[in-house]
Amino acid sequence: MKLIYTHENHFLVYNIQNIVENAHIQTTLKNEYASSAAGDLVPHETWLELWVVADRDYDLAIAAIDTAFKPKTQLPWVCPECSEPNEPAFELCWQCQTEWPH
Ligand SMILES: [Zn+2]
Repeated sequence: MKLIYTHENHFLVYNIQNIVENAHIQTTLKNEYASSAAGDLVPHETWLELWVVADRDYDLAIAAIDTAFKPKTQLPWVCPECSEPNEPAFELCWQCQTEWPH
């Protein structure tokens, strides 16, 4: 298991969990019921934590979160080097490997 996200705002964590599970990655929550016992604890210790169950899914989960929070640029971009149009998902030109200048 690997921790992928934690925040004091539980709604944000649930939101991230939805994003990750929509990518067919199994997750589990820790500290889900800790907030009511927060009394003497350091606040950070009661933050809701989102974990991926399988370590191998970690990179996929992070990528899913990144994708969800990226501004939605649906237009293809045109490579400044070779003028090739590239899909927005590509960070490098598929033809000449030039980095997307954004
Ligand atoms: Zn190019």
